[in-house]
Amino acid sequence: MTTLSLPLVFHPIYSQLTLPKNHRFPIEKYLTLKDAAIKKHGSKVNVNLVSHPISTEQLKQIHQTDYIHNFLTNKLTDKEMKRIGFPWSEQFVSRTLTAVGGTLQTARLAVEHSVAINLTGGYHHAHPDFGSGFCVFNDLSIAAQTLLDEGKVNRVLIFDCDVHQGDGTATCVADNPDIFSLSIHCEKNFPTRKQQSDWDIGLDKHLEDDHYLAQVNDALISAFHSFKPDFIIYDAGVDIHQDDDLGLLNITTEGIYQRDLMVFQLAKQHNIPVMAVIGGGYQRDIKALTDVHIQLINAAIDTFIN
Ligand SMILES: [Zn+2]
Repeated sequence: MTTLSLPLVFHPIYSQLTLPKNHRFPIEKYLTLKDAAIKKHGSKVNVNLVSHPISTEQLKQIHQTDYIHNFLTNKLTDKEMKRIGFPWSEQFVSRTLTAVGGTLQTARLAVEHSVAINLTGGYHHAHPDFGSGFCVFNDLSIAAQTLLDEGKVNRVLIFDCDVHQGDGTATCVADNPDIFSLSIHCEKNFPTRKQQSDWDIGLDKHLEDDHYLAQVNDALISAFHSFKPDFIIYDAGVDIHQDDDLGLLNITTEGIYQRDLMVFQLAKQHNIPVMAVIGGGYQRDIKALTDVHIQLINAAIDTFIN
C-alpha cells in the first residue's frame, strides 16, 4: 500500500520531564524535531498524537509483574532508579507509558501505511525485570510481540543501529524465534557487560562513514536473506554522530542520512513494512541534534513520499 504523507507519532509529553539542573538528557529534542519536521516537510508529514498509553497487560507480554508494579507505584529502590537515570515522578511514569504506547501505535501505522516513525522510543536497555540507561520498558520488544500475538506479522527483525548495544532487547526476545535482534554498536561503549543478541556487530571506535555504511549494508542484507522478516523495527539512534557526547564513532550527518535511506529502501524494494524510532542522540546543542535526527524523516520521505 502506498501513502501520500509520512505518518509520525508524537505527544507533547515526550518533551515534558522536569529534570535536575545539569542533567545530561536533551529532553527538548522531541518537540524540536516535531516542529522541524513540519516546518521542512509541511503536508508530506502527518503527525498522529498518541491515542493510548501502553497498558499494564501489554507491558506484561515482556516485563515481570513486580517490576512493572514497583515502577508504577514508586517502589523501585534508589539503586534501581539510579540505573534508569531519571528521578521517579508521576510525570515520568506518564511520559514513559505514553512513549511506549507511541511505539506500539507506530507499529500499527506501519502495518497499514508501509512506514511510520515514532518521534521518540528505542528503549533498548530495558530488560524484563529492570531498567537502565534512560530506558524503563522495552518498546521495541513490546511492539514486536504485540504484532505477532495479533497475527499481523510473522517474523520481525529488530534492526538496532544506536551506538550502544541493545542489551535489553537481547534479553527480552532471547526465547522468541520469530523475533531476530540485530545490534550494530560501538564495542567499547555502554553497556560494559554486553548481552547476546541474535546477531551482534561490535564496531571499533572512531569508525568513519565508508566502513560504517558498508558494515550496516552487509548486516542488513544478510539478516534480510537469512531470517526473511515480514516486518522491520528500526532503531535509528544518532549517537553514532561525530559530534555526539556519548558516541565514540565518527559518522557525519550525511552518513546518517545514507544509513537511514539504506534501511527504508530495502524495506520498500521488498514491500516489507518498516517502522522507526529515533533512539539515542546526546549533543547538547539542541538545534544541531535536531538536524541530525531529522535525517531519518528526510530519508523516509525521499523513499516513500517524493
Ligand atoms: Zn544510545
